[in-house]
Amino acid sequence: KVAIGIDIGGTKTAIGLVAPDGTVLAKTSLPTDLALPPSVMVDNIAGAAKRLVGEKELLPADLQGVGIGAPGPLNTKLGQIAEPPNLRPWWGFPVVDAFKRHFDVPIVLENDATAAALAEKQTGAAKEADHFVYVTISTGIGAGIYSHGRLITGATGNAGDIGHMVVDPAGGDCPCGQRGCFEHIASGTAVAREASALLGRPVSTKEAFDLALSGQDAALEQLVQRVFRYIGVGCVTLINTFDPELIVIGGGVSQVGSPLFDAVSGYIRDHALNPSGRRTPVVPAALHQDAGLIGAAALVLTDY
Ligand code: ADP
Ligand code: ZN
Repeated sequence: KVAIGIDIGGTKTAIGLVAPDGTVLAKTSLPTDLALPPSVMVDNIAGAAKRLVGEKELLPADLQGVGIGAPGPLNTKLGQIAEPPNLRPWWGFPVVDAFKRHFDVPIVLENDATAAALAEKQTGAAKEADHFVYVTISTGIGAGIYSHGRLITGATGNAGDIGHMVVDPAGGDCPCGQRGCFEHIASGTAVAREASALLGRPVSTKEAFDLALSGQDAALEQLVQRVFRYIGVGCVTLINTFDPELIVIGGGVSQVGSPLFDAVSGYIRDHALNPSGRRTPVVPAALHQDAGLIGAAALVLTDY
């Protein structure tokens, strides 16, 4: 038995054949071409998936299902993409129905952070945990919430959209209409934006962290310490809300590594209210490249 895992992203779509134990048997990827109608993209994605099935000489009966992870907001009840900012042409698109035209097996849609959380549970950093929160700090910020041995997905699949949790009402206008949202202050995008403003030239997120953490620029150092503190604020709120055993942080910004994890752990130690919260470990995600498609496949391979 295998499942097809599909991770639809703003720039690329990863497609894989995944075994029940989370092993990726074959994978490929396509650029997410926003100039193409989403129905044509789905035809291309399905075509690529069928080629993988053909190469592995699988029989139709071997295919257990198709799992799809996609950026939120979406509506899993209706099987639709709702209005993700970086997937504008897909707004309102019935993605599950579109894939049903290609595959006669169960098709499940969840948001990408939720799927990645499931992958971290299955084969990653949260294998032993019955209660954890996976936080992705990348272009935006999102979370997958796993509690009492199950994913918390919410009524429409949008639980864990913590990027729009307010961490500082004085933190500037977020495109969502609120002020001081977590991702407006602490995402990779936010770091690049603020660092570029400070230096008066375009600065990438990685360069900003490198300059700050090597002590080459005091203003950037302050910026980065502030961002770490806000990531701590976000984690403390998650700890106080869900009482997890563990927080797993993934996404591009998590590659900053120990300076980030040490600062966030320190903030949690000093500020989480409940005694268990003070000790809640914060660990890096174990899966990087393939988390999205392993998680997507896990949506149909495991009982979540
Ligand atoms: P996506 O948001 O498309 O899922 P990623 O998880 O790779 O992609 O996150 C991209 C963000 O992470 C960008 O803001 C990027 O600048 C930042 N980033 C990527 N690598 C690093 C790194 N080594 N250090 C700091 N930031 C990084
Ligand atoms: Zn917001």
